[in-house]
Amino acid sequence: MASNGSSVLKMPEIKFTKLFINGAFIDSISGKKFETRDPRTGDVITEVAEGDKEDVDLAVKAAREAFDHGSWPRMSGFNRGMIMLKLADLIEQHGEELAMLDSIDSGKLVHVTKAFDIKFAADSLRYYGGAADKINGETHKCSGEFQAYTLKEPIGVVGHIIPWNFPTLFFAVKIAPTLAAGCTMIVKPAEQSPLSALYLAHLTKEAGIPDGVINVITGYGPTAGAAITSHMDVDAVSFTGSTEVGKLVMGAAAASNLKTVSLELGGKCPLIVFNDADINMSVQIAWQGGFFNKGEMCVAGSRVYVQEGIYDEFLKKLIENVKDWVIGDPFDPQVHQGPQVDKEQFEKVLRYIEAGKREGATLLTGGKAVGEKGYYIEPTIFTDVKEDLSIAKDEIFGPVICVMKFKTIEEAIEKANNTRYGLAAGILTNDLNVANRVSRSVRAGIIWVNCFFITDLNVPCGGHKMSGFGKDSGLQAMEKYLNVKSVFTPIYNSPWL
Ligand code: NAD
Repeated sequence: MASNGSSVLKMPEIKFTKLFINGAFIDSISGKKFETRDPRTGDVITEVAEGDKEDVDLAVKAAREAFDHGSWPRMSGFNRGMIMLKLADLIEQHGEELAMLDSIDSGKLVHVTKAFDIKFAADSLRYYGGAADKINGETHKCSGEFQAYTLKEPIGVVGHIIPWNFPTLFFAVKIAPTLAAGCTMIVKPAEQSPLSALYLAHLTKEAGIPDGVINVITGYGPTAGAAITSHMDVDAVSFTGSTEVGKLVMGAAAASNLKTVSLELGGKCPLIVFNDADINMSVQIAWQGGFFNKGEMCVAGSRVYVQEGIYDEFLKKLIENVKDWVIGDPFDPQVHQGPQVDKEQFEKVLRYIEAGKREGATLLTGGKAVGEKGYYIEPTIFTDVKEDLSIAKDEIFGPVICVMKFKTIEEAIEKANNTRYGLAAGILTNDLNVANRVSRSVRAGIIWVNCFFITDLNVPCGGHKMSGFGKDSGLQAMEKYLNVKSVFTPIYNSPWL
């Protein structure tokens, strides 16, 4: 493992730092601002407007007006789609700036962000833009002298609350199906990574999305976020974040107006490697599954179960990766792993590593912070991990994996399911029967067989158990923002006529 000393430290120009309400960038009512920091150094990048309840009220008012009287929900789906395609092009044209903003705000590798996050964001707008004119109800036969049909209508004003690990991507993944459905919205980015959301807000205006349709409130979760989830005039909330906060979101919705809720929450995903798996591929998948995006992945393969026949060889090959793994400035294309998002997350990950050592697991490699400045942590692998240790149970959200041994397929299934989460799981085997049996037995929303981290806009993505409910991506995501209305009419020989 090399620590990259030659910091590139490029800094993109910061153009937007104010709240975006009703098509204009404005200060928060209180005038308050908060600092957003560069995780490469811990230094302040800039100050951003701190939205609170009164600002959320203003944003909801704008979104309500745009929904109740504006053109967006009344426009043809085809025309909404055309505007969304324009936004997709703008996101791609400004991909460099967006990737740089996500990089300085959250420590993501800039070249990966540009190649993956920005492309996925633009394609989300294209996928749902293409679906915007294909929202159809059904006709129904009735047992009496009636016929019925259903209408699918936009649900209203939607609140989107997003995390910091994929700021541009989640912004787009949330707004795209909501726009296609004809809704209006308030987006609250995470306080750690507000910059790209404000830049995107400006692009939505340039694309021609009418004022009030998209409003962006930067600020903290317990204030701005909670004001959205408890607002009486917000009709639906779509939340991506931790399970802990997901519970608060659901509670706030229940205590206010029973708004619909969808939750994309945490994970502690198993990767199960059977004796017959291609060992080199398995090692690469385990490494990337644990350390891609510095382990700040809800779908990270943080529990690696390896069958006893290949366990020793697997471990030997796994640690060979360490020497080629470069930690350093995420603007440097040679680097594989940048800093954790902030001091809080950095210290939390190091605390888990200390707990793992204290509780009796064996530290195979890593375990330390890297460098004097910034929030860099070595890729860390534990073995001899008992199922009840905190490092095996909790979502660490950092570059830490636990490798554990199993004997039989039954034991693998039982261990994989021994978690309150149910987001994703990986199965590595050349035996189709084993793959099929384990796929059906593991309680998770996504199963990867002989692959990992695969995602596609046309395939629903979301968790089971305490990883949440309601899908992002796929046409299912658009359904979250549509109400079904049933209309009955009498037919020609009905006594009602
Ligand atoms: P978090 O739950 O702390 O914060 C997420 C968002 O919720 C932020 O915008 C935050 O400001 C807001 N928030 C915090 N308290 C709130 C409150 N009381 N009311 C309303 N909003 C509030 O999560 P995080 O640390 O930003 O992100 C990491 C978590 O997100 C991990 O658990 C990860 O697994 C999860 N995640 C899940 C998915 C998925 O698709 N399932 C994807 C990415 C991240």
